[in-house]
Amino acid sequence: MARPILKYPDKRLRLPAKPIEQIDGRIKRLGEELIEALAYAGGLGLAAPQLGEGLRLILIDLPESPELILVNPVLVEADHENEVPFNEGCLSLPGVEAEVWRPDHVLVRAWTLEEKEVEMEREGLAARVLLHELDHLDGILFFDHLGPAKRKLLLKEYERVSRDEEASREGEGRGGKPGL
Ligand code: ZN
Repeated sequence: MARPILKYPDKRLRLPAKPIEQIDGRIKRLGEELIEALAYAGGLGLAAPQLGEGLRLILIDLPESPELILVNPVLVEADHENEVPFNEGCLSLPGVEAEVWRPDHVLVRAWTLEEKEVEMEREGLAARVLLHELDHLDGILFFDHLGPAKRKLLLKEYERVSRDEEASREGEGRGGKPGL
């Protein structure tokens, strides 16, 4: 059973994650749990804090490339001269998205679960997903990149979507299904 993904406004999403000191069985297990949770929810990436684990571990799973688990990833370089807009969402705020501007080109350094140091240069969608997941390690959520008016609008919409979602769940309960 996949671990549940924390939903905003869970406070744990706002805490900076701690560096991983040793890649042991617990970290490898957490890597598997990230894979399970992302496969269940469907998405391109997931960070350990979204499972309530305050550790610097992220998963990137882009179409047509093998899934990538990165330990203690660090942003070495980002091309802020070339920021591009893209409609972004987050598994911790299901049901809403917004146009976020981010650098189109990044250089990231990290460790793999096999304790190999890797440096990767990425563009486009891969750069965006890396930046989004790196943000999670610092307690930053995608709407933090929006101006105040757009952010307010997005959070209002999120509130509405979450309420509707809850109401439909309660509706199911009244339909006589066993409460599990
Ligand atoms: Zn996210």
